[in-house]
Amino acid sequence: MNLSQNSRKSAPRIFVTGGAGYIGSHVVKALGEAGYEVLVYDNLSSGNRWAILYGDLVEGDLADRVLLEKTLADFRPDAVMHFAAFIEVNESVRQPLKYYRNNTLNALKLLETVRQVEIPYFIFSSTAAVYGTPETIPVTEQTPLQPINPYGASKMMSERLLADLAAVESNFNYVALRYFNVAGADSRFRIGQAYENATHLITRALKTAHGEYAKLQIFGTDYPTPDGTCIRDYIHVDDLAEAHLVALDHLMAGGGSEIFNCGYGHGYSVREVVEMARKVTGMDFTVEEAPRREGDPAALTADSRRIRRKLGWQPRYDDLEFIIHTAWEWEKVLKAKKYRNS
Ligand code: UDP
Repeated sequence: MNLSQNSRKSAPRIFVTGGAGYIGSHVVKALGEAGYEVLVYDNLSSGNRWAILYGDLVEGDLADRVLLEKTLADFRPDAVMHFAAFIEVNESVRQPLKYYRNNTLNALKLLETVRQVEIPYFIFSSTAAVYGTPETIPVTEQTPLQPINPYGASKMMSERLLADLAAVESNFNYVALRYFNVAGADSRFRIGQAYENATHLITRALKTAHGEYAKLQIFGTDYPTPDGTCIRDYIHVDDLAEAHLVALDHLMAGGGSEIFNCGYGHGYSVREVVEMARKVTGMDFTVEEAPRREGDPAALTADSRRIRRKLGWQPRYDDLEFIIHTAWEWEKVLKAKKYRNS
């Protein structure tokens, strides 16, 4: 049950790093709608002030220990949700230390401060990239962690920091959520993905439909899948946001530390996504078959029975057409926003 449905005296306070980013901003929206008091801490390196629909923003960097300590000591949150991180796999291969510094070292600094201020609950944005290229799908939380790039490794290390800390601190519990392919946008199209040079399939396809790119490349058509292209488990960002709320309820109700996969448990091939993008947009954009992209597993889907069973998570938008529809409408809003500001 969400806290919004409970009667409570004062709203719990949630400190959200990276709350101005794509996933963070949808979680902030869900927290705000559920009546929590939210404070976002974000350096706006890839996030946007306009994406924060609830609560206040402290514009700051996780590496700024003095500001971080002061902000946490003043706000005294009940829980921290940590989204701020770099997310580009290819960039992580080229600049590994950048990823270990921001994703792992800054997570360590944040945890040190969280312990200093004695905040009992922590929710961590992890990723299916911790699994690397699994031999069997869907992957369970027990599937061995074998990341194949610094991005996945940087997140795996942060998970390890959390596990080791929680093992010795009886008054500290965390939930790590391993996200699969997050897509879509707010159903009222107020927020959505807004990165420059987005590399993700659905965003690339929609920007191609919009005329921003001349063509969409399909990376690899010789995979051992029914149509030869890679299969992924696309989850709507608002269902993912809801997973954070049920994780928070779990911790605040005294639940122990947990790790959960966040996906629907089934996938779509690149070709299926392209076809749906054509249908939703009504645009017959150009598609080119290209060589495989390095490091892509053939198929990656989540066994998400654990979060459904233990936390009662019930996704509402397990529908590729709806996911792409919201992303498409958002893409149009974003374009108009950029046009107005240019
Ligand atoms: N992909 C593609 N063309 C693109 C972008 C992605 O064919 O322009 C493929 C990619 O190779 C992968 C799938 O789409 O098989 C999903 O990739 P994405 O980057 O969206 O997410 P990932 O699974 O890498 O996190």
